[in-house]
Amino acid sequence: LRFEIQQAEKLRIMGQLAASIAHEVRNPMTVVRGFLQLLQSDQIPSDKRQMFLKLGIEELDRSESIISNYLAFARPQSTRIEAVDAAERVEHAAGIISSYATLRNVEINTLTTPGLFIEADPEQLSQVLMNLIKNGIEAMQQGGVLTITVAAANDGTARIEVADTGVGMTPDETSRLGNPFFSTKQDGTGLGIMVTYQIIHSMNGKIHVESEKGSGTRFIITLPRKSDLLAGRK
Ligand code: ADP
Ligand code: MG
Repeated sequence: LRFEIQQAEKLRIMGQLAASIAHEVRNPMTVVRGFLQLLQSDQIPSDKRQMFLKLGIEELDRSESIISNYLAFARPQSTRIEAVDAAERVEHAAGIISSYATLRNVEINTLTTPGLFIEADPEQLSQVLMNLIKNGIEAMQQGGVLTITVAAANDGTARIEVADTGVGMTPDETSRLGNPFFSTKQDGTGLGIMVTYQIIHSMNGKIHVESEKGSGTRFIITLPRKSDLLAGRK
């Protein structure tokens, strides 16, 4: 029964989202169309031309990210829970995003416990980590250090923490996290955290946030731990 309620709630959100998505994707299309039309003329000075191209590409990237986040949310329950090496997933996500971090003067510091197995869907866990790491990097406009910690808790769970020393959030902003289209960024989608929360819940995990405006943010994920014995026998 709980599953059915969750499904109904999800369908309701999906329906609401579909309308917003159409709107959110139509805007960039209009903008890009306008730029292409302008670029048809050869009277455009080259600096303007460069700017139109740059803005056009940004708008397309934004649409792409809206659509892929929506699909990640709408995708039918395909969570494949298996024994996953948490540290390995963290290093994997940190590796993928390392060039983005370098570009923004952010150093990613990982403090992991090797061989700590959790029950999770490896692909979806990667997506969660990427969303949180990306937000952490974007929160540190002057650069800084992003710290990811993996540790065993003594209640049979594992904790993964993603902490930044960036802009932080007010209690009001923190309470709006996870609402579709809540974004404080010029080119934000506000879908990343929504998808993140949904994935963590579908993996029977928990996520909470500690944040202080001006000092930084820490996301704390708790996931069931696979006992070492079982993981070894897998
Ligand atoms: P987006 O990154 O596209 O804005 P998200 O769903 O990933 O969408 O995040 C929604 C909003 O939550 C962000 O715009 C930002 O205001 C806030 N937020 C998320 N993570 C952080 C963080 N690490 N530090 C400060 N604010 C954050
Ligand atoms: Mg984001």
